This record gives sequence, C-alpha cells and structure tokens, in this order.
Amino acid sequence: MFEQVKLPYSFDALEPFIDTATMETHYGKHHAAYTKVFSEAAAKAGLEGKSAEEILSDLESVPDAALRKVLRNNGGGYLNHNIYFEALSPSPKKAPEGKLAECIDKTFGSLDALKEKLTAAALGQFGSGWAWLTVSKKGELEVVSTPNQDNPYSLDLGTPLVALDVWEHAYYLKYRNLRGEYIKNFFEVLDWSVAEKRFAAV
Ligand code: MN
Repeated sequence: MFEQVKLPYSFDALEPFIDTATMETHYGKHHAAYTKVFSEAAAKAGLEGKSAEEILSDLESVPDAALRKVLRNNGGGYLNHNIYFEALSPSPKKAPEGKLAECIDKTFGSLDALKEKLTAAALGQFGSGWAWLTVSKKGELEVVSTPNQDNPYSLDLGTPLVALDVWEHAYYLKYRNLRGEYIKNFFEVLDWSVAEKRFAAV
C-alpha cells in the first residue's frame, strides 16, 4: 500500500558526505522495513485510502493501543524517511530563494543561523530521533526535535519542511560517534528546492 520514495540518485551518489553502505542499509533495509510494517498495520486498522500524514495526525482514532503504537513508530519511520531521502541530492540547491528565504531571514536572521539552530537541535536530541524545520500551526517557521520516529504530524507540531535523521543508523557506519560531522555534511547534500516546494504547499 505505502511505497518508499523512489530515489532519483544512486546509493553511491552522495559520497563522500553520505556513504554507500549507509544508503544501502538505511534506505534498503531500515526504510523498507518501516514501510512494510506500516502498510500491514494500516490495512489491519482499516485505514486503506488514508495518507500517512492523515493517519499520523489522527492516531487517537485507532482504539487498539498496541496497533496504534505500531502505526506511530512505523508510520513515522515510513514518512520521515520519505521526507529525508527526497531532500538529498548529489547536486543540491545550497540555499533557498524567494518566500522561504525571506521567512528564514526574518525568523532566524540568516540561513547560517537556522543551520546552527537545526544543528543544536540535532545534537541535543538524546538517543534516537529527528530534528526538523517546520511551519507551526500558527504559520511560523520553527526548529524542533522529536524522539524515536515521532514527527510533527504525530505530535501536532505543524508541517515539516526539512527532516534531519539523527538515529545512529543514519551515520554510524561512516561517522561512528561523530554526530556533529554527519550533521555538517548533511547540509552539503540537502536540496533546499525540496523545502521550497514543501513550504509553497503549506
Ligand atoms: Mn533513519
């Protein structure tokens, strides 16, 4: 039912910033597993036809607590990685333009200041989780972090524009314990044109 985003680049295309072995495992194993389990759970819960965003925004409507937990963890794992992988590119647009650029400057002062804030959120996430640039419910740009596979949909934090995965499986094969080095290099392959499109759709 649910499908992983198709990568418009090969597993080795993001070298040296994101290594081939990590891509093979991260996309080919972890993301594939989240997608399979989420699809099965959504069918079991009778949620066919709903989007992942709709399901994660309305988990309370699933009465079975165990099934709700499977949907939360694996639905998050499915959707978060679609947002993450879709925004990576071997030839990324290195800075946003237009409305998004204006809003970033107004809210954070500059793109560099936003990157610093995202980096701090990603470094400060204890254990597994994600850092996000979001459009809040009030329509303001915000940097937030979430534990595990929780996300702005499941925690009612608005709409994600940028997803930064800081689970160890995202970086440990290459960077070992150096999460900060991975985060620095994540920005080398982050395509801001994807965030622009997500922003325009909010
Ligand atoms: Mn991951």
